[in-house]
Amino acid sequence: MISSPPSTLSTCCCIAGGGPAGMMLGLLLARAGVQVVVLEKHADFLRDFRGDTVHPSTLQVMHELGLLDKFLTRPHDEIHELRGMVGDTELVLANFRHVPCSCKFIALMPQWDFLDFLCDEAERLPTFRLIRNAEVTGVFMHAGVVSGVKATTPVGPLQVTADLVIGADGRHSTVRSAAGLVVHDLGAPIDVLWMRLPKAADGPATTGGRIVPGAFMAMIDRRSYWQCAYVIAKGGMAAIQARGLEAFRAELVKVAPFFADRVQALSGWDDIKLLSVTVDRLERWYMPGLLCIGDAAHAMSPIGGVGINLAIQDAVAAANILAAPLADVSVSTSALTPFLAKVEKRRLFPARVTQAAQVAVQNRLLKPVIASGGAAGTPAVTMTVPWPLKLLSCSSWLQAIPAYAVGVGVRPEHVRSPQKEKVAL
Ligand SMILES: Cc1cc2nc3c(=O)[nH]c(=O)nc-3n(C[C@H](O)[C@H](O)[C@H](O)COP(=O)(O)OP(=O)(O)OC[C@H]3O[C@@H](n4cnc5c(N)ncnc54)[C@H](O)[C@@H]3O)c2cc1C
Repeated sequence: MISSPPSTLSTCCCIAGGGPAGMMLGLLLARAGVQVVVLEKHADFLRDFRGDTVHPSTLQVMHELGLLDKFLTRPHDEIHELRGMVGDTELVLANFRHVPCSCKFIALMPQWDFLDFLCDEAERLPTFRLIRNAEVTGVFMHAGVVSGVKATTPVGPLQVTADLVIGADGRHSTVRSAAGLVVHDLGAPIDVLWMRLPKAADGPATTGGRIVPGAFMAMIDRRSYWQCAYVIAKGGMAAIQARGLEAFRAELVKVAPFFADRVQALSGWDDIKLLSVTVDRLERWYMPGLLCIGDAAHAMSPIGGVGINLAIQDAVAAANILAAPLADVSVSTSALTPFLAKVEKRRLFPARVTQAAQVAVQNRLLKPVIASGGAAGTPAVTMTVPWPLKLLSCSSWLQAIPAYAVGVGVRPEHVRSPQKEKVAL
């Protein structure tokens, strides 16, 4: 709970949203001596599953900030390779041992622990302030210039004026719609059902994907249970519910037979969460006084599990470009605009390439697989492993290519923003 926030506040940079993009940017700007206020609508970082992957490039950022050793003392698991099952054949699809980063693995850590860590570090800096339970409801805009945000809090309305507002409030961004920024929908033919299933001695050893005719499921090892993502056709939830829970449990067993004795753990539809997948991108990420980053600028599909990575990379690039002009009191809001354009220019290419790859996997791989059969009871069809996947599985050097794409990504960023503020001990 926050303790009575003032009804008006003035700061240099106001960030809407305390997700990976907002918290990392807040930390970097505060470290560079910029006054930052982050407004987060939730009371804590505990929320629905939003991915647990901390990629090698994000770990590299931690290393550059001198925080890596401390970060890795928090409970996590390390994934050195990604495996997949195509029909009955197990394949290695990506091998992170060759990525050019300090850590040659993906760290699996619940997102709330990752955000708690960033928050703990940021709150040690005197120029950082996080206000929880503060939901941004609109922006102040005059003659095409954004000068702040309005928010609701449990103790009444809050108005924050700022030289720069950052929209880091995710794929349903209030800030971007309040400012009238134009969004292009890139299309997603799939939705995803998320659920937890208990672990047992049998079954796969590591995080990975399983594909059979008619179904695809990704499984993430969360120590005491599996977090499962079952891909369905866009808008297909109603049909699945109409077939009934027992039929759905049978569909899961078809793709992952070792769950046969555990699917009863799904006792009702409340145990199964629908994620409506969206892939979109802003036509322009900024306007005078406002910049959007992360999912607010380019909502990512969960495919490849790279959205957090892109959000962090956006934050690092934004801090590299904006820290100096923001710290300079003589730079006005309108003089900041060319720097905002520079951030978009730097990050548009990685977002565009990554989203194009996600759309291709959705349309060319997942959509045909889902359309090819599906419901339990349909006769089993043997699935042959495509030869490129067989080749990939034989060579750890070839596996380094997808590992780089997922673990590092296009145009990795390095911390160049200065460290002016020392942490309070
Ligand atoms: C089910 C699911 C699974 C995923 N799995 C993975 C994965 O395994 N790996 C991966 O890399 N990516 C994954 N992604 C994508 C990833 O979660 C996003 O790309 C990433 O979180 C984007 O970070 P962000 O900071 O831009 O936005 P978000 O993480 O969405 O954070 C936005 C923040 O803003 C807050 N907020 C929203 N509106 C307001 C408001 N009006 N006022 C104040 N605060 C507000 C939210 O509470 C939230 O804290 C997954 C996404 C989903 C939906």
